[in-house]
Amino acid sequence: MVGQSTNSRYDVIVVGAGNAALTAALSARQNGARVLVLEKAPQSERGGNSRFSGGIFRFAYDGIEEIKPLRRDMTASEWDLVDVGVYDEDRYLGDLMRVTEGQANRELTQTLIKQSYTTMTWMTDLGVVWDWSIVWSPRTGERMSFNPGTAVQAKNKGVGLVHYLFNAVQQAGIDIAYQAKMIGFLQDDAGHVTGVRIRTPGGAEDVPAGAVILGSGGFEANPEMRARYLGPGWDQVKVRGTRFNTGETLRMALDIGAMPVGHWQGCHATPIAANAAPVGALSLTDRTNRLSYPYSIMVNIQGKRFIDEGEDTGAYTYVKAGRAILTQPRGIAYQIFDSKTVHLIEERYSTGTPIVGDNIREIAQKMSVPDDALEQTIKEFNASVQPGAFDPAVKDGKRTVGINPPKSNWALAIDSPPYTVYPAACGITFTFGGVKIDTEARVRDTEDIPIPGLYATGEITGDFFFHNYPGGTGLMRGAVFGRIGGSNAAAEALGR
Ligand SMILES: Cc1cc2nc3c(=O)[nH]c(=O)nc-3n(C[C@H](O)[C@H](O)[C@H](O)COP(=O)(O)OP(=O)(O)OC[C@H]3O[C@@H](n4cnc5c(N)ncnc54)[C@H](O)[C@@H]3O)c2cc1C
Repeated sequence: MVGQSTNSRYDVIVVGAGNAALTAALSARQNGARVLVLEKAPQSERGGNSRFSGGIFRFAYDGIEEIKPLRRDMTASEWDLVDVGVYDEDRYLGDLMRVTEGQANRELTQTLIKQSYTTMTWMTDLGVVWDWSIVWSPRTGERMSFNPGTAVQAKNKGVGLVHYLFNAVQQAGIDIAYQAKMIGFLQDDAGHVTGVRIRTPGGAEDVPAGAVILGSGGFEANPEMRARYLGPGWDQVKVRGTRFNTGETLRMALDIGAMPVGHWQGCHATPIAANAAPVGALSLTDRTNRLSYPYSIMVNIQGKRFIDEGEDTGAYTYVKAGRAILTQPRGIAYQIFDSKTVHLIEERYSTGTPIVGDNIREIAQKMSVPDDALEQTIKEFNASVQPGAFDPAVKDGKRTVGINPPKSNWALAIDSPPYTVYPAACGITFTFGGVKIDTEARVRDTEDIPIPGLYATGEITGDFFFHNYPGGTGLMRGAVFGRIGGSNAAAEALGR
């Protein structure tokens, strides 16, 4: 029995074993609590979406000196070749508010942003090792110039991130139960959360604790909830990550009175390989992504463009782009590159096989797209391209005029064979609707009062993201509120 694996009661139970939950568990332990982590998945599939992730963390910093403590492995001469710019708190807030159309909760996002850098150094001290992130930062020449805000990712991406976090959890003496699914809350008459009911292969049992932290993800792997909340078509979408985020803990939290907040019809979804599996594969993790579309044109199966591929750098458009693909006939899009841009296709495309052809009719036939329509689209697109210098490393303003949708940056004529085409579909990453938490990571009820003994962090929380999302914020949000929730849950449990 999980609850009897030690002789004494746990102070804090953490539900889930991804980045949000593990950082919460580590923080609770650092603050003196005896902690139990409950992971619904078997050990071989542990780690949630965090394990599938690219491991990119978006955090605020004032310049390269602040990055140096995160990369102690770099030599002085290597630092001379690195440019990370400045990504201060105002810029982070501006980006978050711009892409969420001003709807992100200000108090929560300010806490997220203000504590982002200290949380990065805290994670470094816990043993997380960092690397440069080349996604959205095309390399030009000798220098390494990174897109400000998303310069850093965990070494070996999400797989590395959960490896480092599980190591830290083990070293901290935190117990983990696998195949331990939370199936209900324990509450006293006053409404205090006093533990959870779980089911393991050994049966159901009650596990009491002084406080509970939910880090159990969203509902993206549950087709019934996707159809119910996200709307038509979403039940059939491919899932990019774990199959275990099926939303039951979110429902249970709502059932005991937690306030639902945020964009319940919204989610993070990106272009992925059209032939990707229905749920994420640990052998590929994030390598089904198809995010080099800003240097392509994207057409649907009718041969028509449907989105401004160059509206902004991919970090600010990839979520919109995924959703836009889902609304196209059969939910398929084709990303067309020519010999001028094929070298800009990122490495992850090597998991797929492109359609290649020497003329537009040939690729149209291979794509099963009407050739007249595709020729017409490309003719109109090419005629609309304005002169100017093409620069993949910055928003170059090289755009189209007179077509709809426009292409606002990186508009190069598609005229240099061979043509290389990758089919893409929409893959859901995580859902935006969730429970309300405050800046102390306490779950609040529908009267906006904290539910005693209940905390939450990560995907299960709402009010952070609406419509769109700045890449790298999901992991950062989980870690910042994991750290806060862990220390507050420990204080509450030990003070009781
Ligand atoms: C392919 C891919 C790439 C991504 N890349 C990035 C990136 O580079 N940067 C970024 O910021 N974000 C990225 N994301 C998003 C990011 O992974 C998530 O925002 C983040 O991992 C969510 O963390 P979490 O801990 O809340 O949830 P998860 O990591 O999904 O953890 C949820 C945990 O809860 C467990 N669980 C669920 N239900 C129960 C239950 N009833 N009982 C017990 N346990 C339960 C699950 O098994 C899992 O362990 C990516 C996601 C994917 C899928």
